[in-house]
Amino acid sequence: SRFHDFELPIQVMRAISDLGYEYASPIQAQTLPFGLAGMDCVGKAQTGTGKTAAFLLTLITDFLDNPLKKQYDSEPRSIILAPTRELAMQIADDAKLLCKYTKLKVVTIVGGMDFEKQKQSLEQDTIDILVATPGRLIDFIKRKSVFLDQVETLVIDEADRMLDMGFIPDIKQIVRATPKKEDRHTLLYSATFTDDVLNLAKAWTIDAQMVEV
Ligand code: AMP
Repeated sequence: SRFHDFELPIQVMRAISDLGYEYASPIQAQTLPFGLAGMDCVGKAQTGTGKTAAFLLTLITDFLDNPLKKQYDSEPRSIILAPTRELAMQIADDAKLLCKYTKLKVVTIVGGMDFEKQKQSLEQDTIDILVATPGRLIDFIKRKSVFLDQVETLVIDEADRMLDMGFIPDIKQIVRATPKKEDRHTLLYSATFTDDVLNLAKAWTIDAQMVEV
């Protein structure tokens, strides 16, 4: 299906057109209608399928359609958790490209990079999309540089790799700092659907649409 078939804001359509995307990939075509309707989604998709744009388009559209009257520093509207610094930075780059005609703010919090700069970007500006690796985000939560109680959308990317890398205790701690699942929108992606992944999906989502590509 073409992107024109979805009700995406004009600023998003312009960014998509600049990127040269014309047709939604299967994971995008199958998750966007549910995501845009506010339903939780659990998607089985490898890298290269367009899964990043699938969740980014969902939350960017939601934020543009529902602007906040008042938005505070240190209180992100969404968090996207990724297992590695490289993946987090790639997601943030894609987010910035898709947000280029909007005023939405994208902040990246990853290990191994300048701590003070990241602290400032959390404390001194509003944040719409916070892309983070789990360990560094927990550091900032503990220091009260970021508060997750206003998170509307939680994205967990590559859940199977998070499990393999031993990040689940960290992620549980982060998820507990967000509003309860009834009060947030949760999107979870994984390259594989093992029992462990499906159990986490069950714990963190409600009536999720299961999509496999
Ligand atoms: P991902 O699976 O999210 O890592 O995306 C893989 C690549 O596909 C990235 O380089 C994206 O820029 C590109 N991409 C995502 N969605 C589309 C689309 N609908 N049409 C063409 N390319 C896309």
